[in-house]
Amino acid sequence: MGLAGCCLAWQLSFAGRAFSWHDEVWDGASSRVAAGMINPVTGKNFNPSWRLAEFLPEAEAFFRKVGEITGRQLWFPFPVWRMAGEQEWPKFLEKIAAPETQPWVAGVEESVSGWRGAVVLRGGARVATRDFCEVTRAHFAAQQAEVAGAARLVLCEGAAGLIGGRLGHHRCAKGEILSLRAPSWRSDRMVIGAGGWLVPTGEGTFKAGSTYVWDRLDGTPTKEGREAVERIARRLGGDDFEVIDHEAGIRPIVRRSQPVIGPLPDGRVIFNGLGSKGSLYAPGVATRLERWLTGEAGLDPELDVGGL
Ligand SMILES: Cc1cc2nc3c(=O)[nH]c(=O)nc-3n(C[C@H](O)[C@H](O)[C@H](O)COP(=O)(O)OP(=O)(O)OC[C@H]3O[C@@H](n4cnc5c(N)ncnc54)[C@H](O)[C@@H]3O)c2cc1C
Repeated sequence: MGLAGCCLAWQLSFAGRAFSWHDEVWDGASSRVAAGMINPVTGKNFNPSWRLAEFLPEAEAFFRKVGEITGRQLWFPFPVWRMAGEQEWPKFLEKIAAPETQPWVAGVEESVSGWRGAVVLRGGARVATRDFCEVTRAHFAAQQAEVAGAARLVLCEGAAGLIGGRLGHHRCAKGEILSLRAPSWRSDRMVIGAGGWLVPTGEGTFKAGSTYVWDRLDGTPTKEGREAVERIARRLGGDDFEVIDHEAGIRPIVRRSQPVIGPLPDGRVIFNGLGSKGSLYAPGVATRLERWLTGEAGLDPELDVGGL
């Protein structure tokens, strides 16, 4: 199970609903490699993520609660340093004055070696996604069963389902990621810039990523991918690091790059489209799906797969 299936399992369990689950290992699965970064203000346009103020507190409460239940820390808050060169800097200064961005801006750093400056953002965090999926599988192991008897079948297949044609056209993207050992690097912040990011993972280790490739949708790491991420790591961290792992996964992306839930024409239900932001959206979207499945609420129109 990936982030979607694991979050739904917990939300059903919190609501006291019975369920069973079935998982097949797929090479390109995304949650097993994700860095788990939550970055409040994203992209070249430097805008707050879609419905951030709603989904971020839900994600934090959820991962803290599951962490307490399972005895494993899953939520690691960090400031985000968004580096900018000369060209980007004026646009960033304009953006941070906008009312929708202001609440996420903690300050501006102008003396950052090798850059024009950095915007320091609040609300960032790393979710230990692989640990989360592992502890979830272990927690609900006794509930694993054949799906045939389930009242509703919910497909949380990630990119495997989308590539298989579940929703027609998709925009899934392969990404490669490196695990690094770099004891001399700063480990009190996440850094974004140079087309990638650097995320501290404890004890002098980091995740660095990532590439976006829309063909060759497989889980195989490549030489070019490694070189591209090493360039990002050098620019954001420095030259003194050792690569300890190199992985690849496929981000499940549908049109609008937003998650989708709801019924398929054959009566089954889908939860997919978490894209590059599964850590932020999976808990809150799972809650909305659980409420719809149990008849407590209608489908959130912005998440409804029927609107695709
Ligand atoms: C390199 C990289 C870095 C990333 N970094 C971040 C990040 O920093 N922050 C962030 O929020 N997101 C990140 N993401 C995105 C994140 O990984 C995804 O949003 C999220 O993990 C998707 O979860 P999912 O459960 O939908 O899919 P998946 O993780 O792919 O899980 C789907 C599961 O379903 C199983 N499955 C598939 N088909 C079937 C079937 N027919 N029957 C049974 N089981 C099946 C698969 O084996 C898999 O276990 C990153 C992605 C990549 C590739």
